[in-house]
Amino acid sequence: MRQRTYLSPTLRDVPADAEIKSHQLMLRAGFIRQTASGIYSYLPLGRKTLRKVEEIIREEMNEAGGQEVLMPAIQPAELWEESGRLGDYGPELMRLKDRHGRDFVLGATHEEVITTLVRDDVQSYKKLPMNLYQIQTKYRDERRPRFGVLRSREFIMKDAYSFDTSQEGLDRSYDAMYNAYQNIFSRCQLDFRAVEADSGAIGGTDTHEFMVLSEIGEDTIAYSDQSNFAANIEIAPIQMTYIKSNEPLGELEVVDTPNVRTISEVSEFLDVNANQTIKSLLFIVDEQPVLVLVRGDHEVNEIKVKNAFNKATVELATPEQAAELLNCETGFIGPINLPKSVTVIADKAVEAIVNGICGANERDKHVKNVNPDRDFNVLRYEDLRFIQEGDPSPCGKGIIKFAMGIEVGHVFKLGTKYSEALGATYLDEKGKTQTMIMGCYGIGVSRTVAAIVEQHHDENGIVWPTSVAPFDLHLVTINVKDQDQNELGEKLYNSLKQQRFEVLYDDRPERAGVKFKDSDLIGLPIRVAVGKKASEGIVEVKVRKTGEMIEVPVADLQATLT
Ligand code: ATP
Ligand code: MG
Ligand code: MG
Ligand code: MG
Repeated sequence: MRQRTYLSPTLRDVPADAEIKSHQLMLRAGFIRQTASGIYSYLPLGRKTLRKVEEIIREEMNEAGGQEVLMPAIQPAELWEESGRLGDYGPELMRLKDRHGRDFVLGATHEEVITTLVRDDVQSYKKLPMNLYQIQTKYRDERRPRFGVLRSREFIMKDAYSFDTSQEGLDRSYDAMYNAYQNIFSRCQLDFRAVEADSGAIGGTDTHEFMVLSEIGEDTIAYSDQSNFAANIEIAPIQMTYIKSNEPLGELEVVDTPNVRTISEVSEFLDVNANQTIKSLLFIVDEQPVLVLVRGDHEVNEIKVKNAFNKATVELATPEQAAELLNCETGFIGPINLPKSVTVIADKAVEAIVNGICGANERDKHVKNVNPDRDFNVLRYEDLRFIQEGDPSPCGKGIIKFAMGIEVGHVFKLGTKYSEALGATYLDEKGKTQTMIMGCYGIGVSRTVAAIVEQHHDENGIVWPTSVAPFDLHLVTINVKDQDQNELGEKLYNSLKQQRFEVLYDDRPERAGVKFKDSDLIGLPIRVAVGKKASEGIVEVKVRKTGEMIEVPVADLQATLT
């Protein structure tokens, strides 16, 4: 590709609103441009890099038995109504109407569409298991789009969905995807960890996230330095001592658990549906403001502050206000420091309050004159504290360390949530109708590109790993007005292309300094510079990563490069 007419505009200055390196560098090196907040265009270099990552994903998905499909970005809202997610998904779901006033959504994910596709066209166990995937554009109206394509409102995702006839089958499909993800992110040269995750709004139980380690990551990972234990802090163990009340008016029993527990274990204590993690917690601080933290996405979108026990109204507060009340930092059940001695009530009681049920002196059914210790099944956690760095690892080996991570992939065992809601059934060997068992598996393709830049750059620019670099080589003719240089440059451009190298050829009439700076900024793995020694048939080869430079006679160039 000739750079003279290539749309690869480079910028010398760091764009003001780009906070992190990958965002700055992708803008400066001419990979992306912002079209609207959280909405980006990919320029040719960006598009090529995306394709490289997509190809790695395709190869590994196909190898794992995936079949590629392409589903629409626009989905009828009824489908989401049928699955029960239209309300649940919240303001992240972009909604639109057609000219007839029919409701549609822009696909934030595709469980509904794929499930109805398979429902309509797969009837027999003989067709199963099946794994379908696509690489396609997703829309999520993120509350805080930021960091360039790392968290955008329109982005490219690879999403795969598996359909099985048994739990063991699902386990196998899940493991195949898990392994494919290990391969994909390794091939992208990412330093990552697979961590236990929280199933959140999508439902289901078993789930792992693939986290690229990076200090700008928005998730905190707790991991053991001497074992495989790794979890998103959202579900990372907490340590606690608590006082548990027995039945409604029962005696308070002090239970001391020095053990580490996971939040899901805690939810069991709190009598929350076993498959769910805690949806809401009431924090009663100094017997007054009651905070309902609604567990959903990683960021708290809203916190319901309720001056509960004598009013049934629910007011909304910002996370900041809530944090101030709690004297903690914003963020959900993350690494926040709760004040000592808080009372926590889980889902059921919260629901009772929010629903405004009053009356009989029955457990969980008071609004007026409610005394938490008397009328609710209250669990009081004294010194509720999340696991800290340096704590012993829950598996007994090593100590806990924290790291920040960028979620690039996520695998879920969905079970029958969507197949049940949308009627995806099949006939088994005995002709009996059974519900398909599903899994879903996502990779943020555009986010992965940004994560690669985040981990592969230096002070001069991007340092692309060979596997995903938009081109293999940057051929730079230092002075195109010099006849020897120009001729050799042209000759090499053609021969290197014939040798199946992907070549970006800097044939621009720019100064050497500009060309070298741009070359480092764009960050192709190898630079071949044609300069003063062109007349002697000698070029200079530079390895972007190490800075190593050697002079090579043109005759030896191909051998040097391979
Ligand atoms: P996050 O926690 O970062 O909001 P998510 O858990 O909501 O991500 P999933 O629903 O698991 O995302 O989607 C699968 C993958 O899509 C994620 O692992 C991530 O790599 C990517 N992804 C999700 N949201 C975005 C976004 N706004 N911009 C770019 N990529 C995204
Ligand atoms: Mg999200
Ligand atoms: Mg997430
Ligand atoms: Mg996720």
